[in-house]
Amino acid sequence: MVTIAELREQVRGPVIEPGDDDYEEHRRVHNFMHDRRPAVVVRAAATADAVAAVNYARANALDLAVRGGGHSVPGFGTCDDGVALDLSLVNNVFVDPAKKTARAGGGATWGDFNHAAHAYGLATTGGIISTTGVSGLTLGGGIGYLTRGRGLSCDNLVGAEVVTADGRILTANEHENEDLFWALRGGGGNFGVVTALEFGLHNVDTIYGGPMFYEVEDAAAVMACYRDFIEDAPEQLGAFFAWQIAPPLPFIPEDRHGDLFCAMVTCWTGPLEDGEQAIKPLRDAAEVRAEYVGPMPYPALNSAFDDLVPRGLQHYWKADYVRELTDDAIAAHIEHGKRTPVVNSTMHLYPVNGAAHRVGPDETAFGHRDAKYAAVVAGMWPDPADNDANIKWVRDYYAAIHPHSGTEGGYINFMSEDDAARAPENFGRTYERLRQVKAAYDPQNLFHLNQNIEPAS
Ligand SMILES: Cc1cc2nc3c(=O)[nH]c(=O)nc-3n(C[C@H](O)[C@H](O)[C@H](O)COP(=O)(O)OP(=O)(O)OC[C@H]3O[C@@H](n4cnc5c(N)ncnc54)[C@H](O)[C@@H]3O)c2cc1C
Repeated sequence: MVTIAELREQVRGPVIEPGDDDYEEHRRVHNFMHDRRPAVVVRAAATADAVAAVNYARANALDLAVRGGGHSVPGFGTCDDGVALDLSLVNNVFVDPAKKTARAGGGATWGDFNHAAHAYGLATTGGIISTTGVSGLTLGGGIGYLTRGRGLSCDNLVGAEVVTADGRILTANEHENEDLFWALRGGGGNFGVVTALEFGLHNVDTIYGGPMFYEVEDAAAVMACYRDFIEDAPEQLGAFFAWQIAPPLPFIPEDRHGDLFCAMVTCWTGPLEDGEQAIKPLRDAAEVRAEYVGPMPYPALNSAFDDLVPRGLQHYWKADYVRELTDDAIAAHIEHGKRTPVVNSTMHLYPVNGAAHRVGPDETAFGHRDAKYAAVVAGMWPDPADNDANIKWVRDYYAAIHPHSGTEGGYINFMSEDDAARAPENFGRTYERLRQVKAAYDPQNLFHLNQNIEPAS
């Protein structure tokens, strides 16, 4: 047993309990569907604080929720009556331009990361939204604009510092604790608290790209064009398909604000002067009704859609990996995409190919290298009174597309709480080996508030 007074003595960052002024703010995570009340929130200031929080939770047999950017849709970054370990103060990013690496604290967001790396004209694969955590996103795989050219975020991870369930601080990389390093690249938050992550960086500075909006009536043509083009397109091109109700932005004609469109969002990282030509096949898929395309700093594109997903919405998502995007699948997308209920909700279809396919299927724990796309039906809306209708839209959409995807699993980072039973399919071919590594580093399953891997017996 460790007392809360002893915990406070061991921790430099704020230790927040029910009744404290800032408890309400820090007990919650990005998805306000989760209204949980931890017994204590430890806002770690350093690795030592994470060690203290892990030891406190273990010694007192309390649930332990580990929070990086807090964006988990199932709300894994908070819990009832347990310990919420919030790493958001550990968000420094140190760039080594000579080695082209960056070391990020376990609570850094992609906004923190890109801000630091862009000063040197460098970047690595991160997510689409800048407020998402580097840790949670990378540990589950990491899909973003640079996936085709530079692989998944986890493919760019070269090392990590991890606090394990027994309170040890380990280094994981190609030479030390290799099994742990393997598992961190796709196995999610199952193996310990990741207090620092080191990435390889690439020359990505000003990109050419942005969103193009087409009429819903052209969605089948746009999707088919995307499918036919993206597999063999130059790898400097990232692009994804989306449904989007037009927000009131100046680049969209005023009389179309609030109308549903389909969109292609592009990111060309090759020579700027080639950008227009690089995205032309997608531009020519149908008439573009509105666009915000041009040269822009990579972090600007990475934060362009942040306002569509502010903290405090209700989230319910479903995900699928897709082997082939068939015509029947496209028809199902159109039927349900047309009913996109609210400006924050969408379906994104991300390509998984190029550099992500050149990493061997067992080289990392990411178990779905044979997928060509990752689809996510992302329900996000402001009012809890609308929960039933919005959840139904997500479930119906998913039920319609899933039979066409050619595979069982979906991306663990896009899964909701009720997908826990699908862990073996969602982790895919690496699941059994992940269970062995889990047994070696966390046999008691202290880290169970995540897309959980059952330790091998
Ligand atoms: C608005 C939005 C946009 C998104 N866009 C993308 C995208 O473009 N690409 C993509 O791949 N995914 C995307 N995601 C999904 C995202 O990858 C997951 O939600 C991810 O879990 C978020 O990481 P986080 O650190 O913010 O979350 P948290 O809620 O803090 O953590 C989520 C999980 O990761 C574990 N974890 C987090 N930090 C640590 C740590 N330091 N050590 C150990 N375990 C940790 C937790 O245990 C938990 O299981 C998006 C999600 C949202 C809500």
